[in-house]
Amino acid sequence: MRIAIIGGGIAGLSAAYELEKARAAGQPVSYTLYEHRERLGGSLASETVDGSVLEQGPDSFISEKTAAADLARELGLGDQLLASNDEARKTFIVVGNRLIPLPDGLMFLVPTKLIPTALTQLFSLGTKLRMGLELLRPPRAAAGDESVAELVRRHFGQEAVDRLADPLLSGIYGGDATRLSAQTVLPGMVKMEAEYGSLCRGMLAGHRKMQAMKSAGSSKGNRPKRALFTAMRGGMQQLVDALAARIDEISVRRSSPVSALEKITEGWRVTSMGQSAVYDAVIIATPAWVASELLKPVDEPLANELGAIPYSSSITVNLVYDEKKLGRLPEGFGFLVPAVEGRSLLACTFVHRKFLGRTAPGKAIMRAFLGGMRNESMLTETDAVLVATVRRELGEILGPVAFDATLEPIYAQVTRWRRAMAQYAVGHKQRTAKIAEHVAALETLRLIGNAYDGIGVPDCIRLGRKAAQELIAVRETVGQGTRD
Ligand SMILES: Cc1cc2nc3c(=O)[nH]c(=O)nc-3n(C[C@H](O)[C@H](O)[C@H](O)COP(=O)(O)OP(=O)(O)OC[C@H]3O[C@@H](n4cnc5c(N)ncnc54)[C@H](O)[C@@H]3O)c2cc1C
Repeated sequence: MRIAIIGGGIAGLSAAYELEKARAAGQPVSYTLYEHRERLGGSLASETVDGSVLEQGPDSFISEKTAAADLARELGLGDQLLASNDEARKTFIVVGNRLIPLPDGLMFLVPTKLIPTALTQLFSLGTKLRMGLELLRPPRAAAGDESVAELVRRHFGQEAVDRLADPLLSGIYGGDATRLSAQTVLPGMVKMEAEYGSLCRGMLAGHRKMQAMKSAGSSKGNRPKRALFTAMRGGMQQLVDALAARIDEISVRRSSPVSALEKITEGWRVTSMGQSAVYDAVIIATPAWVASELLKPVDEPLANELGAIPYSSSITVNLVYDEKKLGRLPEGFGFLVPAVEGRSLLACTFVHRKFLGRTAPGKAIMRAFLGGMRNESMLTETDAVLVATVRRELGEILGPVAFDATLEPIYAQVTRWRRAMAQYAVGHKQRTAKIAEHVAALETLRLIGNAYDGIGVPDCIRLGRKAAQELIAVRETVGQGTRD
């Protein structure tokens, strides 16, 4: 069976790796990976500058989802996995020109500890009272999908949307809480609301269950505490390089955008750079908006659903400084900026604090995010303007003692990510169900990437490997052998 993989980001590379393993094990499978750019990896890109790792895209993955760490170990990179420095894990929210730490006991968006919630300066007295009264809410059956902002507003009020849901979600999705789907992004909370009414009570009940399992010695309850995030010591590029090294180079076509896809009696005709080849199956690992264009002649309703998935763009700005000259940064991983603050900055990570040992001694790295759903136009600004904007806003937010905005960074790196992050908008679950129906009818098509069932690196790896395994499994039913 010959398989075309379109897109060489982490999802496409993971699929190729799985197919390569099958091929090496003697299965009659071959593949070609088409990548638009010269470099592989898509959003994963890092470089080491004077002993400091600079991440242009993702800097880590959430440890709870094990697919990325499992793959790293399989690739011989187990010793390169680096846990986040959770002892210093404090995240601040910008309110005016002040940094206010997220209160202790916050379980994602839900406050579970009375005293820290009562004492935090993040919320007004009105919001705190509302959070207390939330405990009394009766169960409520889900009435269709709604936005994350609506769900959080109903429970905790608008201030909790502005200062909690919006900055936390825009940190993960580069998105907008008023558009993101509660059913997709917060499925656990939707379930909790139906069962308990109060999200606070639901969270506490979940926590108690976990404690009970611990005391009963259950393996689930007794799991050693994982760091929240895991990075690669040499940068996420290590994963890309290790995958690329395992994949047969002859099977990889770099700088080869696929421009057309046709469903023909023999399978699929894939056209790239004016040349066509026929395959038994196709894995599309591009953003959904590219998949939509390619699939228009094959299945227009499917293409329309794919084209309706919104995307956000973002910009990362890495600034390297001499730590001694910079000022005294607050103790923590960094801060998030609520949209209501009206700033260009979405967030900033103090990289040298979040992951130890990846920054050259004596250096500090500020990694800022700009853009997002509400500020796409920033992508057209020059690097100089973007760096100046970041320095000015860091100076305003952190103040002259913590950050000297007049100090030139030793190194500045700007990366633009155009329409790279899918947004799970209200109705996403219903949309992906329709997409899955159409894909199933086509049998030898798979769609993978961050647009469908998880935005993070581990999700993309999981989906990539699964798609390859599924196609290997359907080999018997759709055709045998290899065609050139
Ligand atoms: C700035 C940023 C920070 C992030 N931070 C994190 C994080 O900390 N943790 C985390 O888990 N996730 C993070 N993510 C999300 C995660 O990185 C992405 O969801 C994931 O890398 C997407 O992988 P992918 O393979 O689906 O898509 P992509 O990486 O977008 O790859 C798609 C590939 O398809 C290629 N392509 C497009 N059109 C064609 C065509 N016609 N023919 C051939 N090839 C084509 C593209 O060139 C690209 O290489 C972040 C994303 C960004 C942008």
